[in-house]
Amino acid sequence: MGVIRTVAQSPFLHCPRRTDAARMLKLKQTKCLMLPDIENLLRLQDADKEIRRLQDEIAEFPKRVAVIEQKLAGTKAQLEKAQAAIKADEAARRKYDTSINDLRGKISKYRDQSLDVKTNEQYKALLHEIQFAEKEIAANEDKILELMVNADTRDKEVKAAQAELKAETAEIEKEKEQARQRTAEDEKLLAEWRAKRDQMRAGVDEDLLRHYERVSKFRGSGISEVRDHKCMACQVMLRPQTYNEVRSGQQTVVCDSCQRILYFNPADELVDQKPEAHRPLRHHPKIDAPQAWYYRAEYADAGEVYLCLTNGGGRASRRVYEIHTGRLIGDILIREGDFRQAFPEDITGAIRLNGLWKEDDLDGWGTELPMVVLDSLQSDLDAARREAASGSHAKPETATRAAPEHAAS
Ligand SMILES: [Zn+2]
Repeated sequence: MGVIRTVAQSPFLHCPRRTDAARMLKLKQTKCLMLPDIENLLRLQDADKEIRRLQDEIAEFPKRVAVIEQKLAGTKAQLEKAQAAIKADEAARRKYDTSINDLRGKISKYRDQSLDVKTNEQYKALLHEIQFAEKEIAANEDKILELMVNADTRDKEVKAAQAELKAETAEIEKEKEQARQRTAEDEKLLAEWRAKRDQMRAGVDEDLLRHYERVSKFRGSGISEVRDHKCMACQVMLRPQTYNEVRSGQQTVVCDSCQRILYFNPADELVDQKPEAHRPLRHHPKIDAPQAWYYRAEYADAGEVYLCLTNGGGRASRRVYEIHTGRLIGDILIREGDFRQAFPEDITGAIRLNGLWKEDDLDGWGTELPMVVLDSLQSDLDAARREAASGSHAKPETATRAAPEHAAS
């Protein structure tokens, strides 16, 4: 389960063997380890993301306009309320004015009547009526005064609401215009991205594309990077076999847990594992040391080897070890002179390593390097490669007289 398709004729099968050396050399060319379908899917995923972003943005504009329009409606209602209050006050004032006029009319009528009264009681009654009407007038006048005081506040309310409405109307017009422009731009981009996406889809295997789109629909993304043995999207650890399949970059593998299509980017893994800042500086081997260790990526039919060259008594010796097992390959070769002159073809293009052990130890190890020596050489090799990758030092060696018969490429 997990493997959708095996690409038998993948051009990537011709990549160099995935040794550490090859990995370092290919650091910048990480695509070497990626299937073309995966690269296309990554581009497709970017296109899908951009399309979704544009769609969201286009959908967002009317919502923004609606929010301002709602605020605008609120301000309009406030203005109408303030204007209605002014009208109500004016009507009330007219009513009070009318009442006052009526009361004044009554008073003048009572005064006229008081001239004709015959009895004291009648006079008192009229006087009482007049006093009552006067009180009523005073009460109406108080109310008018109150309205006049309120009128200032009402005016201010109306003016503020009018100003707010004006500002909001201008703002909404601006916003609408921007929304119109952005929508037009976004729609143009969207059309371009959709065309690009269609093109990209055509470049991906049909089954894989269907799988990618089904997972994308449910999970928002259909492809996930693998790092530290984990699917970075769902964070579930991969089984070792699945992990190796993804790393090999020769077949399409999906995450058992989230079904996303998995890919591996060696550059990310290396950067993660070895943060540049925390690495100590590497010692550099002495040029005139009596013993020198070298690494070669290809050595005759043996593949990767360590060479141990020594000087002593006017003669040079050469030992060749397989780097993974530490086994001695062939016999110890002795030549006249200094090892630089004696074995120039071995030195040329090789990586010089730190390493100095006693001659007795070398003899004592016999046909196999101890693990501790292998580890020491390996870690110095790693350091040398990092240096080479960062371009700071550790250029491949050149011999004094170079005639490389089987120098590594
Ligand atoms: Zn997953």
